[in-house]
Amino acid sequence: MSGDCIFCRIVAGEIPSQAVSETDRVLAFRDINPAAPHHILVVPKRHIADSLVDLNLDDSEQADIWAEMIRVVQTVTKGVDFSNGWRLVSNIGDDGRQSVYHLHVHVLAGRLFGWPPG
Ligand code: 5GP
Ligand code: ZN
Repeated sequence: MSGDCIFCRIVAGEIPSQAVSETDRVLAFRDINPAAPHHILVVPKRHIADSLVDLNLDDSEQADIWAEMIRVVQTVTKGVDFSNGWRLVSNIGDDGRQSVYHLHVHVLAGRLFGWPPG
């Protein structure tokens, strides 16, 4: 837990959020500034990594949490709103335009996305 990490504060309930799904170790909630009709963030409840760069898959707990995050992605994309396709995104570092340094993935749906991304 990092005191000035927005996602740690959301997990702790200090900042309100609209939860979509959760497990013991993972929370999915709606992005405050949606880039699509459906924009969900999936985060580990514990601050195990700032991004995929420092996620250690040799650590069995971190590997399990990453798998749990993907499981939650599968759960939240089961509905009819996702039947036409969706996009999974992880912004990394400055060039990737990452703004919150707590491991997370974006699940976006509800419109046709451009490629390549801007
Ligand atoms: P990043 O830019 O790091 O890939 O993604 C961070 C995301 O967190 C952004 O899409 C931003 O809109 C979202 N975000 C930032 N602050 C808050 C907040 O307080 N609540 C929620 N629900 N989302 C937030
Ligand atoms: Zn955090």
